[in-house]
This record gives sequence, structure tokens and C-alpha cells, in this order.
Amino acid sequence: MSDDCGVTTTEPLAPAGKLIVVSNRLPVTYDVDGDGFRLRSSSGGLASALAGLPRDERFTWVGWVGDVVADAHQAAVREELAAQRLAPVFLTAQEEQLYYKSACNEVIWPLCHYFVSKVDYRPEAWDAYVAVNQLFADAVLAQCEGVEATVWVHDFHLMLLPRLLRMRRPDLAIGFFLHIPFPSSETYRLLPPREAVLQGLLGADHVAFHTSDYALHFRRACLRVLGMPSERDEIEFEGRRVRIGVHPIGPDVGHFQRWLADPATDAQLAELRQSYGKTKLVLGIERLDYSKGVLLKLDAFERFLARNPAHAAEVTLLQVIVPSRLASPEYQQLKSRIEQRVAEINGRYGRPGVVPVHYMHRSVSPAELTALYRFAHLAMVTPMRDGMNLVAQEYVLCQVDDDGMLLLSEFAGAAQVLSGAILVNPWDVERTAQAIEDGLNMRLADRRGRMQAMRRRIEALDCRAWAEGCLDALRRAASKRREDGGVLRVDEATFAAVAQRADGAVRRVLLLDYDGTLREISRRPTLATPTDELLQLLAALAAAPRVQVHVVSGRDRETMGDWLGSLPIWLCAEHGYAARAPGGDWTVREVDLSWMPRVRKVLEQVADDVPHSFVEAKAASLAWHYRLADLDYGTWRARELQNALEQVLANEPAEVLHGNAVIEVRSAAVHKGVYARSVLDSAPVGTFVLAMGDDRTDDDLFKVLPADAVSVRVGARRGQPTTLSVPSPAYARALLHRLVANWT
Ligand code: UDP
Repeated sequence: MSDDCGVTTTEPLAPAGKLIVVSNRLPVTYDVDGDGFRLRSSSGGLASALAGLPRDERFTWVGWVGDVVADAHQAAVREELAAQRLAPVFLTAQEEQLYYKSACNEVIWPLCHYFVSKVDYRPEAWDAYVAVNQLFADAVLAQCEGVEATVWVHDFHLMLLPRLLRMRRPDLAIGFFLHIPFPSSETYRLLPPREAVLQGLLGADHVAFHTSDYALHFRRACLRVLGMPSERDEIEFEGRRVRIGVHPIGPDVGHFQRWLADPATDAQLAELRQSYGKTKLVLGIERLDYSKGVLLKLDAFERFLARNPAHAAEVTLLQVIVPSRLASPEYQQLKSRIEQRVAEINGRYGRPGVVPVHYMHRSVSPAELTALYRFAHLAMVTPMRDGMNLVAQEYVLCQVDDDGMLLLSEFAGAAQVLSGAILVNPWDVERTAQAIEDGLNMRLADRRGRMQAMRRRIEALDCRAWAEGCLDALRRAASKRREDGGVLRVDEATFAAVAQRADGAVRRVLLLDYDGTLREISRRPTLATPTDELLQLLAALAAAPRVQVHVVSGRDRETMGDWLGSLPIWLCAEHGYAARAPGGDWTVREVDLSWMPRVRKVLEQVADDVPHSFVEAKAASLAWHYRLADLDYGTWRARELQNALEQVLANEPAEVLHGNAVIEVRSAAVHKGVYARSVLDSAPVGTFVLAMGDDRTDDDLFKVLPADAVSVRVGARRGQPTTLSVPSPAYARALLHRLVANWT
């Protein structure tokens, strides 16, 4: 089933109800001023992106003002901000310390930027993170009491918020955008509360990232940490579909176009031309942060000078460091290290009148910034990790003469949208030094071609277009969820095809696989207990007129008896080795199991080799499960194992099946098809048969069905052709819910 379970419209969706934007910081800063206070507007990427949205009574931005607000000022601050459609969340000094400085900046930030050694996880700080996310939830819910709303949550400070909101207001349209990288699952899984964070995000209808890599890492983390498989662009969580989006943010194009046309920028440009004359300018602008790789950049520039010291008089690196997080001793230390390196390089390669590295530790005005971007011969944007990086994009945008060049780290998200840049690995100092030379010496025609193509791309990525795109995708996702209803919807055509064949049948036989069909696969087989919803569904089906329910599973008798034994249904365990009628005793088939001890040895050997894999022994079969292991390694070893087993079992009455992250060896005389045939042989003419299954073992069952039976494949695996296929167990259950409603 493709997109046919949801809405098909492609028109932008009209906003419904209120729009509530939530981010850690509001675009204002609170300062104490004598006995009173001042609120200063501060701009930023998100503020620019949202500038195009109407700021009427249907809009609110919830966030923190960046400092502890004195109790005496809180009411007045709230009132003053309300006029700008801003709703403040007040944090105590302790919350600021634990939630913001510790959990956000010393755990999530370094982890997501792969600075694992800088992660300093403290349980009390995490408690504060949870509590502050809850505070934000309260603030958001207060804004949308009794009204329909779209809530758009931003960034790593608020990763628990989507689910906190969903639990209290399931109807809200909730989106989440992560502005920093989502790291590889190998790094992500170091986070102690790794499950809660993923579940927090999955509370949203739409979870979006800058690049497809981050989206892939997120999906992989869901699989490794929660055991939840996903599609490329969606994942199912708690009975809802969560859409996964890729939306790279761009710069504020209009802002820079205005400044490019401003006389103040021309004045700055004239000054730069005068100061630098024939000297070529290499520009670096970054906020003070270890992720920005400024020390490595200085190493590369030094190497560039070392290779040809004459460059010192011809090329100048201007490094602008925008002050940031200066209260942190770590950031202070970084600043000192940068300044020390600048002094060392200038000490070594400088001469009277020649200073190869110019350094500024301050913010620059928009005119100054625009002029620098326009003037610089080369921009060196070489972060060790960066979610996106706007400086690289803004440089390209302002290069209206198309004669500069961009040297860009392949570890910046921007590398995925700026394919004309010279990409470097910032750790490779030697090659980065060479890249500086290449960038400065590139033929003008080449530079022009690359810069023009990149500029066109950047103009299209404008931050306002980004906001509209994200909001539209979020509204679409929420609208699909509403269409799905509480349970995922099965479309009319699917349902009608099944219902039509069942109408008028003298008996309705349902042959239903359990794991991966009726119930989602879970990390451990023991965790896939039937939910109340499933038990009620099976009971209702069994009670419907002329219906016989058979659960046909590979599971052992004990588990099936414990889980489903009290229902008036037929159970088939261990792929057909054991079976029982409702309330009856198990009957077991006579089979030759003499091959089992040898196979067991082989499987146990692989289980020892592949961490987190294990052997399950059943009465007539043995299974090696590798769902919990590294899937790539598990799949590789599974292929080898399958070959090895086929040799071991060459003349034995046993067969090898490669299922869903499991290799199973079972008696050849026992399979689901044998059981199904015995059921069907005793069924009267005019019986309607519906069979559902997800893996290779169900193909045996599908193969023996009569031509007019309805077979339903659950999930994406290919195999025996079926009448229908549905994407997941939730759809399979939804189909059964519809049928039972039709029959009773
Ligand atoms: N910028 C600024 N003040 C300055 C210099 C630059 O606000 O003095 C802006 C710059 O225009 C860019 C942003 O800071 O939009 C930096 O964004 P980027 O994505 O490169 O890095 P971040 O600081 O968000 O990690």
C-alpha cells in the first residue's frame, strides 16, 4: 500500500486554529535595569524564518527570555511580551544551571556533535530537563486550551515536549524540528535516557531534520534502541504514523539582499578594498564553540603558510569569533587557545607590515558582515560538526560577483546543499592547506560556474520558504493522522475487496499469524504480549457469526496457551507441530527430531560469536535470533549460517528458514501449510478463508490456500504473491476491526 491510506491533496493546507511556536529562547533578552527591566529584541535564524507569518491573535511563541526574571518583574514581563504574541516560560537559577547549562549544553549538544568526551551526564540535570520540558508543556497547553492548534517545537532543548503534549492533548498537530545533527546510532545510544528522548520526539506528527543523513540516523536509533523498524519517511508509534521529514534551512535571503543594496555596505566594502588592496582575504566567521573547528582551521592556514611563506604577504586570514557561552570556563579556555594560536602564527610568519591572521572577537554589524561576505576571496567554513551552517550559505548568497570560492567541511549539513564548494575533512590539515591554495588559484570561469549554481540553490532555500514548507508538511502529517482515526485507517478499496468475498459465506475461517502480523515485532519475543486491544479484537472475531479464528504461530505452546488460551479460538504452535481446539488439549505430531542436537551446537556457536543474538529451543525447531544484534553483522552471519546448515542437514528431515532477523531450523514435516491444509480439508464448501502473515513461514500457509481465499501480507517483505498487502500490524488489526464491525 503506498500513499493510498491518507489524504491525496497537494494544495497547501490552510492553517487550522492557533499556531504555537516553541523554542528554548524567545527572540528577546531580559536585562535588569535599576529597579526595573529592559527587554531587548534579539534576532536569529528562527526569528527571521518566522517573520513571514502573521503575528495576530492566532500566533504565539513560547520560550525562555535567557535569564532568571525577578519575581517582582514576572507579571510585567509577561504583559509586555503578550503584546508581541510572545509567552515567556520563567526558569529558576537552578533550572537554568541544570536544564540549560548542564543537560542541554553539556550532554545533548556535545553528544549530537560527536564530542563524546565532553559529555558530562548528571542524573539531577536530567531530572531538571524533564521538569523544564514539563513546564514548557504547561505553558503551551495554557495557550491552546479549548482550541484547535498546531504546535511547532524546536530543537534539542525540548526533545521530550512532543510526547508530553500528545499525552495531554492527543488532538494537537505537533511538529518537531532538530536544528543540530542527529548523530549516528552508535553515538546516540550512549545517552542514558535514550529511550525517553526518542519516545519524546515520536509524540510529534512530523519530526524533521536538515539532512537525509540525520533522518537516517534517527530511524536507525529507533530500530537499535526501541526495536522499531520504519519506512524511509514514516514510523509507527503508539498506533500513530509519525512522518519523518528532511527540510534544510536556508539564510534570510531578503535581509542580505537589502544589505547588499545598502550604502552602509558599500562604505564598508570600500574600506575593505582600501585596507586589503591586492592581498587576498580568506574569511572565517564563527560563534565561539568547539564544534566549529577554529583551531584545526588555524593549523591548516599555518600549514598553507609553511608550504610557501611568501603567501604571508599575499593572503590574510580574517577570523571573526562571535562571543558565545562566555560564562563557561571551557569556552573561555577555547578562546584563549584560539588567541594563542593566532599569536603564534603571526609571530612565526609576520613581518613589519605583514600580519597573516587578523582576529576579531566581537559581533559584526549587518553592513560589515555583508561587505565581508561580498569581498572575501575565499570563505573557510570548516566545522568539525555543524547541523547546517548558515555562514557558508550567506557567503555564497552575498558573492554577487561570483568570483569567490567556498571551502567547506564535509561534516557541516551545508555540505549536502552546497555541492559546488571545495569539500574538506577538517582533521586532514595537509589537504585542507592544499584546498586553500586550490580555492585561491581556481580559474575564474570555474569559480563563476560553481558560485552561480550554489547561489541559485541558496536563494531557493530561503528561511521563510523553509518555515512554510515545514509547517505545511506538519499540517499534512496531522491531517493524515486525523483521517486514520484512533486506529490506522485501512482504505475503502482494501476493505471492500475483503468484505465482498466474506459476505454470504457459510463459514469464515481466519488463519492469522501472530508476530509481525497481529502484533508488532518487539526487541525481545517475550515482550510482544497481546495488548488489550488485540485480545478484545480476537474475542470479538471469535464471537462473530460463522467465524473460526486460528492463530497460527511459530511460538511455543506454553506462551500461546498463556497469552491466548482463554479465548474461544484455535491455536497452532511451533509452526504446526502442536495444535489445539478452543479450550482443548494440545495434540502433537509424530516427527523425527534426531537432527536437533547437532543443529543446536552450530547455532550456539554463532550465538556466541554475534553479541546479543541468542538461540531459542522449541519442541520441533531451533531458532537463532539476531534482532538485538548489530543488524548488518547479524545478516552477514545469517547468510553464512544458512549455507552451513543446509550442508549439515543435507539428508535430514529438517529445513532452514530465514525469517525476520531469525534463522529457524524445523522439522520438514511440520509447517504452517500442513496445519492450514488440515483446517481447510474439514471446511464445508462455501467457506471464506482469510490468511494473514508477514514472513517466510507464512508463505507455506499462503501456498495451500484455495484460489478464492484472501491472503494478506503484512509489511514490506517480498514472497509468495498475496491478494493484498498492508504496511504493518496496525493496518492488519484495523482491517480485522472493520471486518468484525461488518459481521456483527
Ligand atoms: N552572525 C551574527 N552575528 C555576527 C556574525 C554572524 O549573528 O556578528 C550570524 C550569521 O549571519 C549566521 C549566524 O550568525 O546567520 C551563524 O549561524 P551558523 O548556522 O553559521 O552557526 P550557529 O552559530 O547557529 O551554530
